[in-house]
Amino acid sequence: MTTTIIGFPRLGEFRELKFTTEKYFRNELSEAELLEEAKALRSKHWQILKDKGLTEIPSNDFSHYDNVLDAAFLFNVVPQEVQDLELSDLGRYFALARGYQGDKGDVRAWPMKKWFNTNYHYIVPKFEKGTQVKVASQKIFDEFSQAKELGILTRPVLVGPFTLLQLSDFEEGLEPADFLEDLVSAYQAVFARLAELGAKKIQLDEPSLVKDLSAQEKELFLGLYQRLLADKKGLQVLLATYFGDVRDIYQDLIALPVDALGLDFVEGKKTLDLVKSGFPEDKTLYAGIVNGKNIWRNNYAKSLAILEQIPTDKLVLSSSCSLLHVPFTTANEDFGQDILEHFAFAVEKLDELRDLEAIRQGEEELLEANQALFAKERVGQNKELAQRLAGLTEKDYTRLPAFAEREQIQAQALKLPLLPTTTIGSFPQTKEVRSQRLAFRKGELSQEAYDQFLAQQIDDWIKWQEAVGFDVLVHGEFERNDMVEYFGQNLSGYLFSKNGWVQSYGLRGVKPPIIWGDVTRLNPITVKWSSYAQSQTKKPVKGMLTGPVTILNWSFPREDISIKDSTLQIALAIKDEVLDLEAAGIKIIQIDEAALREKLPLRRSDWYEDYLDWAIPAFRLVHSSVAADTQIHTHMCYSEFTDIIPAIDNMDADVISFEASRSNLVILDELKAKNFQTQVGPGVYDIHSPRVPAAGEIDQTIAAILAKVPSQKVWINPDCGLKTRGIKETRESLVRLVEAAQAARKEL
Ligand code: GLN
Ligand code: ZN
Repeated sequence: MTTTIIGFPRLGEFRELKFTTEKYFRNELSEAELLEEAKALRSKHWQILKDKGLTEIPSNDFSHYDNVLDAAFLFNVVPQEVQDLELSDLGRYFALARGYQGDKGDVRAWPMKKWFNTNYHYIVPKFEKGTQVKVASQKIFDEFSQAKELGILTRPVLVGPFTLLQLSDFEEGLEPADFLEDLVSAYQAVFARLAELGAKKIQLDEPSLVKDLSAQEKELFLGLYQRLLADKKGLQVLLATYFGDVRDIYQDLIALPVDALGLDFVEGKKTLDLVKSGFPEDKTLYAGIVNGKNIWRNNYAKSLAILEQIPTDKLVLSSSCSLLHVPFTTANEDFGQDILEHFAFAVEKLDELRDLEAIRQGEEELLEANQALFAKERVGQNKELAQRLAGLTEKDYTRLPAFAEREQIQAQALKLPLLPTTTIGSFPQTKEVRSQRLAFRKGELSQEAYDQFLAQQIDDWIKWQEAVGFDVLVHGEFERNDMVEYFGQNLSGYLFSKNGWVQSYGLRGVKPPIIWGDVTRLNPITVKWSSYAQSQTKKPVKGMLTGPVTILNWSFPREDISIKDSTLQIALAIKDEVLDLEAAGIKIIQIDEAALREKLPLRRSDWYEDYLDWAIPAFRLVHSSVAADTQIHTHMCYSEFTDIIPAIDNMDADVISFEASRSNLVILDELKAKNFQTQVGPGVYDIHSPRVPAAGEIDQTIAAILAKVPSQKVWINPDCGLKTRGIKETRESLVRLVEAAQAARKEL
């Protein structure tokens, strides 16, 4: 029996690591205590894996913050200023993860990016001129030894050199190849030390191999591995890939002297075809067959049918990717058995791996029970909704009149000045806002008192925005805990877990709602507070909605209908909300698609067919029926859409705001080159930092924008919503923003 996983969630069943570390950040806990708790957590997790019968258990999949940052520290890819900080190892590590400002110095955090097509963020390492790659951290060794002392011989996990280089930044004038030799030596030194400690295997994660690979990238990969594998120091190497298939490099992979290959049979569309074309006898295949990303039970019959076609007996059953991307266990949920039996979180996925192996050994009853589960009708179909969807025609996806005509009509109707100023929607969610919401949820505060509180917040901020001179106001989103959950709670077909946390940013978790059945709108969602806010001012107040693609991407989707169909259901619900807002007199409506890019397929060749060809129409469906003089905005939390500008233009919004203050505005050149029509609000300051822009800073940014975009097309707004910021810095920054916009307007 051979089963394993790529990695296990590390925050703990009740997010212990997060809470403990936060205590340490607040100086309520010593470093030694934090390390002790982390150690206990690892032991607990290994013990679970062992008790569940996994035959191969990973180590070093644990991290105090992020495993890419761990790899950077392991190989000494740490800027000199951080190496010089007179802090402990862990102190320096957190300095790079979160920034450090104190008596020892002032260091900025490294940036974060999304880990492939997940909502997990890794820290982006930077190779600099002074970077001296060598083994510089004991973490991987210590964790291996810790498990060994418990009697568990683990398989240490490490980000592979190719993926590490692919994900890193390089100081100008440097390139990955400059570090090839040193990196290979350092990896080999890690192998040697692990072998010395008694390790037999190592897992190198190379998810970058599932992307489109250029000839140059292939050369880099092969250069690295031919050298690396020339001396494995006695270890067996598992090269693990996930999040897709390795079609560009499969032939090379099977020719490499690795001992085992990990392939993803869940997300890898071509994986089965590839292995059927031939798999070498000398290697073991780690087959990722249990979905590491979704929360539904594995369909054993389907999985077994795939496994049967794999032409090798040297097979280890595994998860498709690390279980980091699913919640810990269903054991702490309150759902009824009829619901729970359909879910498998991380711990339950371990049972599935063992079941699959047991069935392969002849325990047929396990298969029958699983088939019975899938034979049951889980949820009925909403006939009315199905009809509505079936009745959609091209007209429903097309807003008329066309943008150019609407632009004029809206200019007439809204009479906004040049460079109109606005914000992205939320204002600071202060302690007070959160505690009132909690009190209301717990029943300690009446609906009436809570409503009064919200109205008061809105009143204050509307007055403040008017006084500062904003052109388009917002109500502030004080009633919302989260931009997806708030909507989900007003939609049928949604379930909310109690403890279904998944690691996202640093130690922070998100709790994605679960799409359980057909989605329809239960009642108007945002009309009450948007129209209240509008009643308090003569200036236009923007209505704020979350778009269908983002709602879907930040939920656990169904597997029994397509993601496209689920998205269209959500789109219809949001469409109804748009029309209600319009009917209530809201003239400007923003439909956030903060996560549109997140699920863009990793391979360019799949972008349109697998995603954009339905995601963009789903957005159009939402706003296609509004009147010409209703202005539709959208917002995106990133500016890396240079490659998909035509698709973004095709959303046919009237205005789009996006993050731009930290990028060098190259996106604007591209917009111009592609003849982008939509009006744009490139964020003029970074809301992810408490820093208030210096005098003149926003003015410069606006000047840079105006050098690239015609002034009639430009909006002035921050990068994103302000809910995570404090009131003081927010107000100071926004005053600067309005002043800068007004000054620029005068110039024009
Ligand atoms: N309207 C949302 C807000 O301001 C947008 C958030 C987001 O883009 N992540 O909070
Ligand atoms: Zn945003």
